[in-house]
Amino acid sequence: MFCRIVAGESPAQIVHFTEKVIVFRDANPQAPTHVLIVPKEHLDSVESLTDAHAGVLADIFRAANHVRTSEGLDDGWRLVANVGPAGGQTVSHLHVHLLGGRQMTWPPG
Ligand code: AMP
Repeated sequence: MFCRIVAGESPAQIVHFTEKVIVFRDANPQAPTHVLIVPKEHLDSVESLTDAHAGVLADIFRAANHVRTSEGLDDGWRLVANVGPAGGQTVSHLHVHLLGGRQMTWPPG
């Protein structure tokens, strides 16, 4: 599904992109700012990452910092990567959630 967004074949509210990732708004937002940082290369999950993906990892965090600035998340924000069924992952394309704009609580559900 996210490959189709990367390819421009499915609609998404894209807020930022780099050479290796795109960032678009989550269709079911859980916070005032809720975006997904998604590698353009298809990787199933965090477990698919290898030494060859150092650039992807750098772009994920670089993109997160770009978006937290553009969204004005001056008081803090959260990154979440769900992995596998017990981790709550529902889309099998590696993505990192960036949430902000409200007070986060711990532990997450
Ligand atoms: P996860 O449960 O961690 O796999 O997160 C998947 C996320 O993708 C959920 O928060 C969904 O709301 C979101 N999502 C699913 N399909 C789309 C889509 N087409 N566009 C934007 N967000 C989506």
